[in-house]
Amino acid sequence: MASKNGKPSARRAGAGACPACGAAVAAAPATSVVRPHTADLEALLRGSLNRRECAACGQAFVLDAPVVFRDDETPCLIYFLPEADAGRRARAAGEMAGLAATAFAEAGNVPPVCRIAFTRRQFIEKVALHLRGLDDRLIEYIKYQMFRNPQQKVSAASSELFYDFSPGHSDRLSFLVFERGTGAATGVARLPLTVYDELAAGLAGDGALGKELGRLFPGPHVNVEDLLA
Ligand SMILES: [Zn+2]
Repeated sequence: MASKNGKPSARRAGAGACPACGAAVAAAPATSVVRPHTADLEALLRGSLNRRECAACGQAFVLDAPVVFRDDETPCLIYFLPEADAGRRARAAGEMAGLAATAFAEAGNVPPVCRIAFTRRQFIEKVALHLRGLDDRLIEYIKYQMFRNPQQKVSAASSELFYDFSPGHSDRLSFLVFERGTGAATGVARLPLTVYDELAAGLAGDGALGKELGRLFPGPHVNVEDLLA
């Protein structure tokens, strides 16, 4: 894994001990991020949530704790489940619907957006898309089209795409390109925002695109990776 600027990202630790020297880490990880409370949310978007630096040896690392993002204003639940095997992932995806129903029991009939992510980068991307008011199914669908379009020169075999939520380029839809395996940032792919707008208009229209998205993404794990498998 590498951070957006290409530098190696911090090492990871799941048990509250420094991965380099084993010294105990005192601070417990944040396990929920609730909008509109903003401090943890800003840390999440910066990539600093649950990052620690070992007081003993100076090693930086990330605590691999599950985190739930919850938005009570625009009902949404996004669950981050790191370091899970396939069985655990499948069970967690099945549990999401019940969790959402409980969390928003008082919210009336608005069906909450309910998502699950298995990597930190995917989790941050999901939260950023939600905050931007973008439909993540359309974003994953656009990634799929980009991988299939030879003119885009983005290979699904060697690259991953992540929505670029950094400020600027409001007329563009930008994706950061990361190399599979190393996680190194290798470039940016840009599309006119009208690509998204036209799909969004189609989704609001005759229902065919909605059916297609429901077929492509039947559960809470909405990710182009599942279409490439
Ligand atoms: Zn240490």
